[in-house]
Amino acid sequence: MKKIEVPPDHPRRESLEVRERVIEGHEKHIVATAGLLAHGRGEAFDYLIGEKTSEQARRAARAAVAAILSADNPVVSVNGNACALVANDLVSLSKATGAPLEINLFYYAREREDAVLKSLRRAGAERILGTHDRPSTTIPELSSNRRKVDTEGIARADVVLVPLEDGDRTEALRALGKFVIAIDLNPMSRTATHADITIVDNIVRVLPLMNGLAQEMKDQPREELKRMASEFDNRANLSESIRLIMAHLESEASRHISLHENTVEGLATS
Ligand code: ATP
Repeated sequence: MKKIEVPPDHPRRESLEVRERVIEGHEKHIVATAGLLAHGRGEAFDYLIGEKTSEQARRAARAAVAAILSADNPVVSVNGNACALVANDLVSLSKATGAPLEINLFYYAREREDAVLKSLRRAGAERILGTHDRPSTTIPELSSNRRKVDTEGIARADVVLVPLEDGDRTEALRALGKFVIAIDLNPMSRTATHADITIVDNIVRVLPLMNGLAQEMKDQPREELKRMASEFDNRANLSESIRLIMAHLESEASRHISLHENTVEGLATS
């Protein structure tokens, strides 16, 4: 399919370009059809948060990087959407923190695994876990393909970063005693609610931010990093993230009232 060129002055250019990347990922079999819908849901929440990284999300990202850097066995889980959107950034984060990448697909197909693998390799990944030829163990709480985790990856990990995960799996990982970091634009999703740290932001903005933080924080004492991660209050974080949506909606509502008043005034004086 021909790629749509987004005009440089289009007001929603960034969002449309990101959407094109997901569509392209779908055509290359990296993204499942359901992944297109998941992306649409994300776009809607991004609109609600004002399509920018909040201070609150920055705080969550800092705590998340602290948790990854101070972990014994951190792992970054990769699904189709994350791969289509931020393959390079995931590889950089993996290299900067020593956390291996593990492919984990909700809608498993060998073709999808191969496409994700190819894309991660092209982005420079050297060690990729979770492929069909790797040793695996199962998460007892889950049915479906996603029970399978890499024996040397998520199975023995203490900290797992799950960009765009589903609620069941996040809950299962928590039940196994993992410290789970989620990236999810919806602060009300089950994933967001079950994680230890939820970064309420778009992965396309937050992954580069996390890479910068990893460089900045990598020499900080381990105990200090561990404390930052454990002191993070995810309940307060999610509550503040929902309040930010409400504040954004309030300001949009006021903007429309003043636009309306100006129009009425203009009509009266003309
Ligand atoms: P849950 O099972 O956690 O309640 P869900 O059923 O609401 O999840 P899914 O369809 O499994 O959601 O996954 C989509 C989730 O990923 C949504 O919460 C959506 O906001 C989020 N999402 C989609 N695209 C992005 C993105 N680019 N960055 C961050 N989050 C995203």
